[in-house]
Amino acid sequence: MRRPIVAGNWKMHGSRADNARLVEELIAGHPDRAAAEFLVLPPFVYLQEVGRLIRDTPIQMGAQNVCAEAQGAFTGEVSAAMLKDVGCGYVLVGHSERRWIYHEDDQLVARKFAAAQSKALVPILCVGEHLWDRENGRTEEVVARQLDVVLELCGVEALNSGIIAYEPIWAIGTGRTATPEQAQAVHAFIRERIAGRDAKIAAATRVLYGGSVKASNAAELFAQPDVDGGLIGGASLNAEEFLAILAACGSR
Ligand code: PEP
Repeated sequence: MRRPIVAGNWKMHGSRADNARLVEELIAGHPDRAAAEFLVLPPFVYLQEVGRLIRDTPIQMGAQNVCAEAQGAFTGEVSAAMLKDVGCGYVLVGHSERRWIYHEDDQLVARKFAAAQSKALVPILCVGEHLWDRENGRTEEVVARQLDVVLELCGVEALNSGIIAYEPIWAIGTGRTATPEQAQAVHAFIRERIAGRDAKIAAATRVLYGGSVKASNAAELFAQPDVDGGLIGGASLNAEEFLAILAACGSR
C-alpha cells in the first residue's frame, strides 16, 4: 500500500508574513487523520522559520532545489546537509523550471538525487515532457531518459527512499491539466520502466502528478491506480484550496 503525498511547491512566492498566515491556516485546517503525507516546499530563505512554525504538527517540509556538491566554493548554492540541518525531509530535484530556465541537465539532476540521499533527504525527482514532445509522440522517450539517468547513477534501490513526480511541462502553471487518462498512462509507463529493473520496488514507488492540480480536479486524478498524490504549485498558496486537494486523497 503506497501512502499518498500532497506536496506544495511555493516556488518564488510569499513573504514571512504570508508564510505565517498560510501555515497557520494549514495547521488549523489539517485533519487529524489525513490519508496522505502533507508537505510544504518554501523558498530557501524561509525554510528555517517555516520549520519552526510547523514543529510538532503533521506538516512536513522540503526544499525546491539542492546543490549536487557536498560543500565548498559554490557561491549561491545550498547543500543537502544544510537542508537537513534546518529541518527538511524532502527536496525536489529536476523541476522543469530548473531544467529549462537554469539548464540543469539529466546528469546534474541525477547527481542532485544522489546528493540528497547521501544526507538522508528524500528526493522528489520531477520528470515530464514539453508540449512539442507530446505532440510528436515522444512523451515516453523523454520520461524514460530522465528516469534512466537517475537509475543508472543511483541504482533502482535508490527508489526505496525516493519519489517521482510526473509533471508535463505544458500543464505547469498553465491551467491546462493532463486528463486522468493521460496522467495514468504515463504513471503506468514509469512504473513499468522501474519494474524492468525491480518489480517489487516499482510496486512500492510513489509517483505523484503535478500540473495545474486544483481542488476541482484532484479527486479524479488521484483516483487513478498509479497516481499517488500530487505536487501542487499555484494552488498550494491558498490554504483552503490546498487542504481541499489533501482531502481529495481521502476519496481514493
Ligand atoms: C509545480 O510547480 O510543480 C506545479 C505543478 O505548478 P502548478 O500546480 O501551478 O501547475
